[in-house]
Amino acid sequence: MKYDMHSMKAEEFINDAEIRETVAFANEHKNDLALVDEILEKAKKRKGLSHREASVLLACEDEAKVKEIYDLAEQIKKDFYGNRIVLFAPLYLSNYCVNGCLYCPYHLKNKHIPRKKLTQEEVAKEVIALQDMGHKRLAIEAGEDPVNNPIEYILDCIKTIYSIKHKNGAIRRVNVNIAATTVENYTKLKDAGIGTYILFQETYNKENYEVLHPTGPKHDYAYHTEAMDRAMEGGIDDVGIGVLFGLDNYAYEFAGLLMHAEHLEAVHGVGPHTISVPRVKPADDIDPDDFDNSLSDDMFCKIAACIRIAVPYTGMIISTRETPEVREKIIRLGVSQISGGSRTSVGGYAEEERPQDTAQFDVSDCRTLDEVVNWLMRAGYIPSFCTACYREGRTGDRFMELCKSGQIQNCCHPNALMTLKEFLIDYASDDTKRIGEEVIEREIDTIPKEKVREIVRERLEKIADGERDFRF
Ligand code: SF4
Ligand code: SF4
Repeated sequence: MKYDMHSMKAEEFINDAEIRETVAFANEHKNDLALVDEILEKAKKRKGLSHREASVLLACEDEAKVKEIYDLAEQIKKDFYGNRIVLFAPLYLSNYCVNGCLYCPYHLKNKHIPRKKLTQEEVAKEVIALQDMGHKRLAIEAGEDPVNNPIEYILDCIKTIYSIKHKNGAIRRVNVNIAATTVENYTKLKDAGIGTYILFQETYNKENYEVLHPTGPKHDYAYHTEAMDRAMEGGIDDVGIGVLFGLDNYAYEFAGLLMHAEHLEAVHGVGPHTISVPRVKPADDIDPDDFDNSLSDDMFCKIAACIRIAVPYTGMIISTRETPEVREKIIRLGVSQISGGSRTSVGGYAEEERPQDTAQFDVSDCRTLDEVVNWLMRAGYIPSFCTACYREGRTGDRFMELCKSGQIQNCCHPNALMTLKEFLIDYASDDTKRIGEEVIEREIDTIPKEKVREIVRERLEKIADGERDFRF
């Protein structure tokens, strides 16, 4: 097998030998300051880096250079994403699963976890609970089970989610995280109006992948790794990739992740819409210590910084798996989307207490959405509930063009302020409201065009008078 980013074969575009050579090259040159400088100069042009170049930065140990890496990541984050953080929530539909993934409590052999699949009435209840928190953007999650969770079930759930209009609430974007499937099924998801299709690779190391997925359809490395190509062939413009850090050597995963991004860009003309950076966490039947590749918080943050530099246009997502402290640091370095107020159990939002018995992983950040919004604003960020792009048809290459030219900022910033205003009026506590109004007042003045400032002010007044869903 030879490395070829244009190939449609998993083992050629995620080529084991190329990854190993990359990691070895990065280790050999980690303190080659002339090379590190050259790569940093290239990165400053904000056109991204190759997997090899980014791997050298990740391996670099020189303290002054590492600081430069962090500073540059922070600057790129500011240039492309400003101080906005988009919020979303996961919605677990079903934990029936026929796969045997060793790191997930939903694996088939786990006989003591209660299995649950939401009925459409229960989906509606969850959605109402999520709307009452203030969420507008969901990522739906389900195990792989052709009998219990066929594509028709997923499509029914999407329809239900979009149909619920409770008080001023609405879910305006549904992202989907379900198992690798056929081109035909991806087209059905596209037709159902999904936002991003998300699928984590878990690990790019084929040998380890097969060990970690001993049974079930997910065992097939090529079928899983080539899923994004089928999704794009099926018409889905925006795909989200990610690895589960801790399963394999982080340097290997990092190179694989960037090679996947390069492949999508080379073949489809559009790189991934988002990259997620989850880490193995404790859960029922799962002890992270069973995986000997766990990485320190510092290295985790360095990975995020290097991803930010290598693919400046790709959104980066972090979940409530991480503690508030890690989230704070990593948001600064590059993350643009976070989940808030999450419950990782099936039917968890409609329950008053946080139920754990059907949870996929333990949540480290247990704050409510209002608390997360409050915290973000106190830390200098604008929490955003914006879902405008896909609803305006700004997806795929159209989106990337706007992103690369920096024009997207003219939409993101005002949209963040208007959706925050909706949240403040409809869902926020008094304290959050007070801080939020100050943030909006301060941030309106930073909108560069006077005309846009005027429109935003008008719309904010209309929102105060009860109108909803304005967008640029
Ligand atoms: S990771 Fe996904 S496919 Fe694997 S057991 Fe868990 S739910 Fe099933
Ligand atoms: S305008 Fe588009 S890119 Fe910007 S926050 Fe909204 S949905 Fe995201």
